[in-house]
This record gives sequence, C-alpha cells and structure tokens, in this order.
Amino acid sequence: MQDKTTFFIDGQWVPAEGRAPIPVIDPATEEQVSSVPAGAEEDVDRAVAAARRAFAAWSVTTPQARAELLSAAADALEARTDEVALLISSEMGTPLSFSKAVQVGNPVRVLRSYAQILADYAFEQQIANSLVVKEPIGVVGAITPWNYPLHQVVAKVAAALAAGCTVVLKPSEVAPLSAYALAEVFDQVGLPAGVFNLVTGLGPVVGEALAVHPDVDMVSFTGSTQAGKRVMAAAAGTVKKVSLELGGKSAFVVLDDADLGKAVKVGLANCFINGGQTCTAWTRMLVPAAQYDEALELITAAAAKYPVGAPLDEGTRIGPLANANQYKKVVGYIQEAVAEGATVVVGGPERPEGLEKGYYVKPTVLGGVVPGSKVEQEEVFGPVLAVIPYETEQEAIDIANGTPYGLAGGVFSGDQERAVAVARRMRTGMVDVNGGRFNPLAPFGGYKQSGNGRELGEYGLEEFLEVKSLQL
Ligand code: NAD
Repeated sequence: MQDKTTFFIDGQWVPAEGRAPIPVIDPATEEQVSSVPAGAEEDVDRAVAAARRAFAAWSVTTPQARAELLSAAADALEARTDEVALLISSEMGTPLSFSKAVQVGNPVRVLRSYAQILADYAFEQQIANSLVVKEPIGVVGAITPWNYPLHQVVAKVAAALAAGCTVVLKPSEVAPLSAYALAEVFDQVGLPAGVFNLVTGLGPVVGEALAVHPDVDMVSFTGSTQAGKRVMAAAAGTVKKVSLELGGKSAFVVLDDADLGKAVKVGLANCFINGGQTCTAWTRMLVPAAQYDEALELITAAAAKYPVGAPLDEGTRIGPLANANQYKKVVGYIQEAVAEGATVVVGGPERPEGLEKGYYVKPTVLGGVVPGSKVEQEEVFGPVLAVIPYETEQEAIDIANGTPYGLAGGVFSGDQERAVAVARRMRTGMVDVNGGRFNPLAPFGGYKQSGNGRELGEYGLEEFLEVKSLQL
C-alpha cells in the first residue's frame, strides 16, 4: 500500500509537506503497511477556513440535493466494498468477512439512511405564534476512533452533511486509511469543495486544534472517556457544542426464567464481536447464582466456536487486537484480574497457540469477578468476558448500573414484559431485549460517562441542528 502524503482540503489533495509520517501497522503481522502525515495546527486552520467558506452555500442547499449526494456516495462506497474492507482489515485486524458486512456495510447503510431521512424530515415547526426553524450548526470538527474506523466517521459525517453542516475530519491515527477512501468517494460524486475536509494526525495536536478552534462550531467526538474529557475541556473556551460518544462497560442481565443456552450464546457473541473492541460490548454477564455453574459450562462450550486467527483466513472469528498498546492493555487486565482473585474459565493471558507474531490474545472468560474490582469497572476493549453471579433481580440491576459508564446493555428473560421492565431500570442509552437486533435508525449513545450525544437516525441528524424560533 502506498504511503499517504496528502490531506484533503477545499476539494484538493494538498501535499503535506514537511509533516512526519505516522506509520500504519498491520496488527496481524506487526509490519508497516502504510503511513499518513502528522498534521499540524496550520493544516487544521486551512481546513477550517475551507469548511467555513463552503458553509455559506452548502447550508442553504435543499435537503433533496444533499440526499442525492449522500445516496451517490453510498453507491460509490458500496462499489468499493472489497477494497475498503481489505484496507480496514489490514489497518486494525478485523476478519475480512466482518469488514465487508459491517465495517463497510454499515457505513453504506448509514449514508443511505440519511438520504431517506432527508426525504421527509421537518426542518420547520409551528408552535402557536412561533415558527421554529432548524438550521445547520456550522463547521463541525469530527474526531473518531479505530475500532469501527469508517462507521464512526460516517455516523458523524453523513448526519452533519445531511443537516447542511461542513466538516473537518480527524480520523484515528491507528486506522486512518478508510477515511481517505471516503474522501475519494465524496470527491468522485461531486460534493462541493470544502464541504468535507480530511486532516490526519495525532489527537493532542490535530484533535485539540479542532476542539479549541474559534471557527469550529461543534466537535463531535467518539473515543475513550479520557480523551473525551480533554476535548470537552479544550472546547470550553469557545462554548462550542461538544457531542461525545465514549467508552462503556455494559452488562447483560440473564434473568432466572431465561433460556440459559440461548442467552449465553447471544451474550458471548455480543461480547466477542470485533474481538471485543466494541464500545457497546456486553463485557459483564450477570447470571442467577443458582445457575452460575451451568452458565459457565455453556459459556465454555460456546467460546470454543470463536477461532482466533489471521483476518484474511476464512474461518477466523477473532483477529488480532488493533495495535501493540491495546495488546499490552488487554493482557494486563487479564493478569491483574487473576491476581485480584478471578479465575480463568476460558482463555487466559498467554498467546494463542501457533500465533507467535501479531497482537493476538485468547478470547477469555473470567469467573469469580467481584463487583467493584478493576476488571468489573473498567473498559478492557478486548475479547474478555466477566461472569458475575447475583441473588436477586434488584442486585442484578444494581451491579449493571454500578459503573461510571452507561452505554448499552442486554436483558434476557422468558417473559418479554419482565425483560422490558428490567431494561427500563438500566441507566444506559441502549438495551437489547431478548436479542433485539441492532437498528441503524435508533438513537445510539450513552448515559453518564459514556457520553452525552446521540448518533444515527433522526436523533443523530438533530445533533447537528440549531433551533431558532421566529415569533410571528
Ligand atoms: P482514543 O480516545 O484514544 O482516540 C479517539 C480519537 O481521539 C482519535 O482520533 C485520537 O487521535 C483522538 N484523541 C486522542 N486524544 C485526544 C485529545 N487530547 N484531543 C483530541 N483528540 C484526541 O480512543 P480509541 O482508542 O481510538 O478508541 C477506543 C475508544 O473509543 C474506546 O473507549 C471505545 O469505547 C470508544 N468508542 C466509543 C463509541 C461510542 O459510540 N460510544 C464507539 C466506538 C468507540
């Protein structure tokens, strides 16, 4: 793969002269596959100025015109599915089939969903003698993580463009390649110059430059809670809107009347999806104490169906972790949990057999995890499940709600109404009941330290709209 040596600013591929390259490493081989330029403050200034200029015309385009461009972008991206999926697998290690179906498939669906939403979204509303008009907020700085590198970008960019905003994107420096493909797609379908701009680089440099910039009206950030707090603080000086999608420590509550075998399979799949590198992953499985031993047996059997291997091998369900830091962090969490008294039911901190190179870890299930312990409270971001017994429904809810996070969760019960009642008591932005499917039109976001924004669907669009009332 060629090194990237440009930014995309004002509809041009601008040479990033004098900017140091940031290596992009294939986590399966630990070898460099490409590099992107480390942008500087001046690059952000230039991109923001382009976005500001473009805003004047883009913000007054018709919803229909914006929908047509988003729809064309969806088609153009879909046509490049195989190539972009391969890019994503090689920059962050996700199995190729998953890259095609989810890492590229979801962004295509999300682009299309915004084209559809624009067809009948009401940008105006009459309230008594007032006309309420919803207007694009302005120039948006978008900062994104590596775990679903294109989806996290598109969840922001498609909604912002649909609203009539212009964007400067800083993708993750770990997995930046698909963002270049997206810029090419926008260029190809004729998005006006300056409406979408791409500046790669490090968070504390390019990300913070966007957050403090007086001409950026809003920052939409997805990433760790730690970096999100820094972005919010950096943005405070200009009172810009900050929308945060942060980490999680979600719980899956298996009630005592659930089909345990089915519940365990659904729960494990949710925890291990994308190698556990999913913000919404149900990393704590809460099971009735009386069914704890049976649950561990069922989990052990189900976990055997998650082969670890190279992303391009067909049978692989869990690839390597995305980078060296992540590998050290995840192995460290497993070791610390064991030192704190947890037992390894499946997996463990050693390397999987036969995989001597690459950031591979064994999918791991921990028993004996005590509520309040480190591995129970903190986001691991790897294929590590903690199974926790509970005595009463109230105790299960207390454990589920007992972390600083509040992103997602799941409930399983033989009685749908009972499951919904428990779901209502969970202090999280999303709960899947009895295996309810991911809905790309439903609001996506968290409570508490999991963030304050919502993405996807109409709620995602509204994040990028200001509300003005005209008294008539
Ligand atoms: P990260 O916080 O390290 O980085 C995310 C982005 O922020 C990157 O582009 C990075 O360069 C940038 N950044 C880092 N420090 C910054 C700073 N001081 N100022 C401005 N920008 C800065 O996160 P990551 O490791 O890339 O991604 C994993 C994290 O993302 C996990 O915590 C995960 O839960 C979270 N996540 C949340 C959601 C959600 O929707 N809630 C979705 C995906 C991932």
